[in-house]
Amino acid sequence: RNATAPAVFLQLKKKKKKKKKKKRCVNSASFIQDSEVPFHVANLDDLHQKHIRWLRTLPRVKPFYAVKCNSTPAVIRMLSTLGTGFDCASKGEIELVLSLGVTPEKIIFAHTTKPQSHIKYASTRGVDMMTFDCEEELLKISACHTRAKLVLRIAVDDSKSAIKLSQKFGTKPSVVKKLLERCKELDLEVIGVSFHVGSGCTDSLAYRQAIEDARHVFDTAVLLGFQMKLLDIGGGFPGNEGFQIQFDEFSKVINEALDEFFPADSGVQVIAEPGRYYVDSAFTLAVNVFAKKVVMDDVTRIRVMMYYISDGVFGSLNCLMYDPAHTNVAPYLHRKRYRSIIWGPTCDSLDRVTATYWMPEVQVGDWLLIDNMGAYTVCCSSDFNFFDKADIYPVLSAQTWNMFNLS
Ligand code: PLP
Repeated sequence: RNATAPAVFLQLKKKKKKKKKKKRCVNSASFIQDSEVPFHVANLDDLHQKHIRWLRTLPRVKPFYAVKCNSTPAVIRMLSTLGTGFDCASKGEIELVLSLGVTPEKIIFAHTTKPQSHIKYASTRGVDMMTFDCEEELLKISACHTRAKLVLRIAVDDSKSAIKLSQKFGTKPSVVKKLLERCKELDLEVIGVSFHVGSGCTDSLAYRQAIEDARHVFDTAVLLGFQMKLLDIGGGFPGNEGFQIQFDEFSKVINEALDEFFPADSGVQVIAEPGRYYVDSAFTLAVNVFAKKVVMDDVTRIRVMMYYISDGVFGSLNCLMYDPAHTNVAPYLHRKRYRSIIWGPTCDSLDRVTATYWMPEVQVGDWLLIDNMGAYTVCCSSDFNFFDKADIYPVLSAQTWNMFNLS
């Protein structure tokens, strides 16, 4: 199995001699045989392993999981059990997280431009920590959430990231002082600074530079009489199967920068808002091949297999369109391969999952599995044409279940 790339792999056809055993012990096997509805398996043990790695590698940084990345309740519950906080971007995300038993002080409302009704809701539910990056937001907050603990989001260099966020969010350095003075005038409490180096970051030094930028803002704040105590280093961490090396490299740079600019004895609490990191590798998508055509390529005269699968770019595979950090799926079974085109189920020709993809021939009724499908997939999925959205089946080992007494 190719561990470095997101993978599509084949479910081999069930062998007749194993039929009897399967019938006796696994009801879900017959369910899968009869159904064509796509489904994810959400491996909650994987979240646990990721969390252990986080604690070991970034011991000074408390993770606040970015709910926007994948709001599956089983994921939120598991992370809550593990003790993470949560980054919520809207009233709906706050509602969800609170309904699953998370307490308000474990939530940061990390959207700098919020509808007023969402700020009011946060206020009534005791969610006080929230980000801002402009004066207009301060006016809304001072009108409906006077207890807010504000975190100033700054724009940072995100040029090495697949998804750039600093054009849309974050204060420019030249505006910081004026904005903090405005907070003073409005008698608002500012507790810290946040940034996001962009999702799908490829350069560890982006974190170093951003942490240094945040230090300058802290220094400006001290001169204005603020006692800042929180640094939020955002998201951007890798989460798929090849993530370890890059994550370790990022962590080394972050730890060194924190020690240099925010040493442990500075009393500054450091948090982060990882999304992709926690969920990407935990989800595997199973899709049914419900139709097939064999055609001849007009130019090369090569036989091309076209498969029509039960999920596509209007469903979980929307990440192929909307997530520049997730641009392809790749096979790992070593059998004779054919050039294959994989189409999603809808009647829209935009719904193409792969254009040129070499893989062993499969038959109608077979299942394809797609790894690393946790981040920014189910959260944006639609049922366009009324095709079923993928179901989600969380799984957990007995060992982890018992460890956290989850009954
Ligand atoms: N925090 C904020 C404010 C975001 O906008 C995002 C993603 O867009 C995240 C955290 C999560 O980022 P990632 O999934 O790259 O960790």
